[in-house]
Amino acid sequence: MARYTAAVCRLCRTEGKKLFLKGERCHGAKCPITKKRNPPGKGPRSRMRKPSNYGIQLREKQRLKRIYGMLERQFHNVFEKADQMGGKTGDNLISLLECRLDNIVFRMRFATSRSQARQLVSHGHVLVNGKRVTVPSFTVKENDQVEIQEKSKKLLVIKEGLREFTRSGVVPWLEVDPDNMKGTVKAIPRRSDVTDIAEVNEQLIVELYSK
Ligand code: SF4
Repeated sequence: MARYTAAVCRLCRTEGKKLFLKGERCHGAKCPITKKRNPPGKGPRSRMRKPSNYGIQLREKQRLKRIYGMLERQFHNVFEKADQMGGKTGDNLISLLECRLDNIVFRMRFATSRSQARQLVSHGHVLVNGKRVTVPSFTVKENDQVEIQEKSKKLLVIKEGLREFTRSGVVPWLEVDPDNMKGTVKAIPRRSDVTDIAEVNEQLIVELYSK
């Protein structure tokens, strides 16, 4: 599967905001965006022109797409699915993104970042309802059980991820048994449940794709 492989911190600098793409490391003092707020390739004194409406909508789409580590085609496909679901397209979009298996593995604290979670899934370490699933974009449903397969439970990266569980638990719509490295999706998240991206304005993305 194609994916973005360049230095991910550049993506945060392009957006001018922390996207938390490196998990725990993003909270440390070494996060480059705390020192370099200018976009990559531009000096600190470079003047930013006032962005157009299109520019603002485009940046919002890029930001959300990068938070979930997706390429344009994948992201657009999810948007189209969200648009066909009925109700508010923006809300559907966030729910669908949250229900991706790689995101669920990250949210369950089996990985410290979505990119690490994606690797765990594609390398076959994750079971859904007892069956191995290697597709990171797999859509998880309510009451699905997600677990780390037995022989992968010794992996250091998973133990590192679960340290975050000890510190801050999990989101209320998931239930996790950290000792057995398994969890259940108690409910499909609504937009209001996804508080860590509360500042993303998904309506701008709906407007962008509706042109
Ligand atoms: Fe973004 Fe994390 Fe890199 Fe900071 S450390 S720039 S938040 S990916």
